Amino acid sequence: MTHKFSCRRAGNRNCNFAVESDEEDELVEMAKRHARETHDAELSRRETRNNLKSIKPAS
Ligand SMILES: [Zn+2]
Repeated sequence: MTHKFSCRRAGNRNCNFAVESDEEDELVEMAKRHARETHDAELSRRETRNNLKSIKPAS
C-alpha cells in the first residue's frame, strides 16, 4: 500500500509539496521535516497521519 501526503490537502493551499512512500513512518517523517523547514511549523505525528491518503497499487 502506498501512502501519499499532500501539503495542500493538509491545509497549505499555496504549497505544492507532496510525497509518496510505501512506508508510512518514512512518509510521516518527510512530511514533518517539510513542515518544519518550509512552514516553520511542527506537525504532530497524529496530525500528519490523519492527512495521509492511501493509494491502492494499480493491479
Ligand atoms: Zn508545504
